[in-house]
Amino acid sequence: MSSLSGRGLRGSQAHSSPTHVAVVGAGLTGSLLACFLARRGHQVTVYERRPDPRTAAAERGRSINLALSERGIDALRRVGLHERVLVDALPMHGRMIHPVDGELDFQQYSIDGQRAINSISRGALNNALLDAAAATPGVSIVFEHRLTGLDPLVFATPAGEAKASADVVIGADGAGSAVRGQLLGMGLIDESVDFLDYGYKELTIAAGPDGDFAMDPGALHIWPRGTSMMIALPNPDRTFTCTLFWPHGGTSSLASLGSPAAIERHFRAVYPDVVPLMPNLVEDYRLNPVGLLGTVRCGPWQAATPGGPVGLIGDAAHAIVPFYGQGANCGFEDCVVLDRVLDETGDDFAAALPLFEARRREDVEAIATMALNNFVEMRDKVASPVFQLGKKIEHALERALPGRYVSRYELVSFSTTPYAQVRDRVRRQHQVLGAVGVLALGGLGALGAAVAKGRRR
Ligand SMILES: Cc1cc2nc3c(=O)[nH]c(=O)nc-3n(C[C@H](O)[C@H](O)[C@H](O)COP(=O)(O)OP(=O)(O)OC[C@H]3O[C@@H](n4cnc5c(N)ncnc54)[C@H](O)[C@@H]3O)c2cc1C
Repeated sequence: MSSLSGRGLRGSQAHSSPTHVAVVGAGLTGSLLACFLARRGHQVTVYERRPDPRTAAAERGRSINLALSERGIDALRRVGLHERVLVDALPMHGRMIHPVDGELDFQQYSIDGQRAINSISRGALNNALLDAAAATPGVSIVFEHRLTGLDPLVFATPAGEAKASADVVIGADGAGSAVRGQLLGMGLIDESVDFLDYGYKELTIAAGPDGDFAMDPGALHIWPRGTSMMIALPNPDRTFTCTLFWPHGGTSSLASLGSPAAIERHFRAVYPDVVPLMPNLVEDYRLNPVGLLGTVRCGPWQAATPGGPVGLIGDAAHAIVPFYGQGANCGFEDCVVLDRVLDETGDDFAAALPLFEARRREDVEAIATMALNNFVEMRDKVASPVFQLGKKIEHALERALPGRYVSRYELVSFSTTPYAQVRDRVRRQHQVLGAVGVLALGGLGALGAAVAKGRRR
């Protein structure tokens, strides 16, 4: 990195001269961030440890799709990328619940059934963002550069060690962030990583014999099984990617199915309708890796190192569990917030990074909690008649009080209302509902008492 004095000049000169920003990680957040920063006139070098994914083969069993919703789309829209990205997305208008036996149950996400979250290939999304970043003047992307040192910037490459310099470093290198690790090692930040007792494994539902989707592609499919679940999202090639979310240990766990016969037996008992749709079930189950799930909390998200300001963004700052489908959406929204605070600070990164954290931290904490709570909802509650009745009441209230009662799902997935405001608003709505319920019950009680009194007279 350049010297401290060079960095000191940056804030005051930010309007007139570009800052050289090193973005570590060319994943979803890093690639989009590069587009935002270069549009502001900064010189951006993105360092990525992997080979260029646009030319390399995909990794086996690593989440090939995700749900993109309004926050992510809003960020893409701001850099003119939403139309290009959404061309290949498949809208999912609700959840399709698969019980062990009995009828499928479709639960639409919005009252009019029109709103949808979008199943999108993670690889295609990343490639589109990389293409966009590479085509933006001021951005260069360097692959096969794994960050190993921060001060000075050092990368492991196939040709050996490479050194680099930059005015500002932003770690967009995911949940296991090396940039975060370096800051931790320098004693500049703290972190806690709470792993779930659950892991995930991907499986594939093949296209049907006629080459078409074997299930409804307009829904996110869920097999809620109490303490575990499976979900499936449609892919443009008419397959579905299924993700099992199972406990690591215990009798019905990712570790418990040893033989092909045990795998088949378990799936026939617990997910009977998908077994005929998964010709490679046993092979996929045995070969695909088990992924970890957890929540990363760290702070501060930025530090003034001797080499200059260093910040964290996306999963590197705040990885969350995937049960609200918000991790990438949240990382994209981070880019919007950082862009906004750069506006406010005249592109002084030393001032903008702490302001970014101040603006964003409460929101990220709110979605981290909502994501954890949604796991219980998805794996357990969605199948219960009480939950289904609750959803019907919620939709009735949304119809009766348009704009005044709005469900949490709607606010998280179909708006850009800050997550902490969503949390607070939903809490208030529930308090009012609770009070109305108590009044209604009280009214019923009073009515009952009056009737009883009348009878006694
Ligand atoms: C099973 C599952 C399902 C999910 N579903 C959804 C969903 O439906 N919707 C949603 O919004 N989110 C979803 N997410 C979350 C989403 O995948 C993440 O939030 C998102 O990928 C974070 O993007 P990122 O760019 O911050 O990090 P990453 O995608 O992890 O990218 C980090 C990049 O940094 C690179 N890197 C790492 N270390 C180094 C290093 N030392 N040097 C250089 N480069 C490095 C990596 O190779 C990678 O390219 C899901 C996550 C999981 C696990």
